[in-house]
Amino acid sequence: MSIGVKVVARPTDQTSYVRATLTGMAHTLKHMLNPEKVTTQYPEQKESISKRWRGTHRMLATEDGKAKCVACGLCPTVCPANCIKLVPGEDEQGNRYPLVFEIDEFRCIFCGYCQEVCPEEAIHVGRHYENSEYSREGFVYDLERLMAQTHPVCEMWDPADPKGE
Ligand code: SF4
Ligand code: SF4
Repeated sequence: MSIGVKVVARPTDQTSYVRATLTGMAHTLKHMLNPEKVTTQYPEQKESISKRWRGTHRMLATEDGKAKCVACGLCPTVCPANCIKLVPGEDEQGNRYPLVFEIDEFRCIFCGYCQEVCPEEAIHVGRHYENSEYSREGFVYDLERLMAQTHPVCEMWDPADPKGE
């Protein structure tokens, strides 16, 4: 199959920048006269974020304070970034629980699959983004740290409310 190439001729006539300059100045003037707030003084001021924001994870706990995770292995299986580490354990009654549960928030792409797939609604992406660190190791959240998070969790997409309003 041959590939066609379209050659676009360079303009030969003189171009005036007066109109573009005036348009830019009009924009500047408009913003100078418009009292609308355009800058958020972060971190003193914070804008609200969407209830569907997918950020720092949270592990929810049962009423007796244990992680709701039953170490089923679904979330590390489905995770496209391969950033969930799970070592399952089992007690004398045959109840499974996570011996090790870690999420590398640095590798995570915040797709939310782990939350969607979790049968216990244990692991959630959260409405939180202030998780900067000085080292990559600092982004690895273990079970204790995941359970210590208190921010609201992400609301999943609802077909009955496609715009999330
Ligand atoms: S949000 Fe996606 S990438 Fe991040 S841990 Fe969950 S499944 Fe993995
Ligand atoms: S999907 Fe839920 S229950 Fe299963 S391992 Fe992940 S957090 Fe635990």
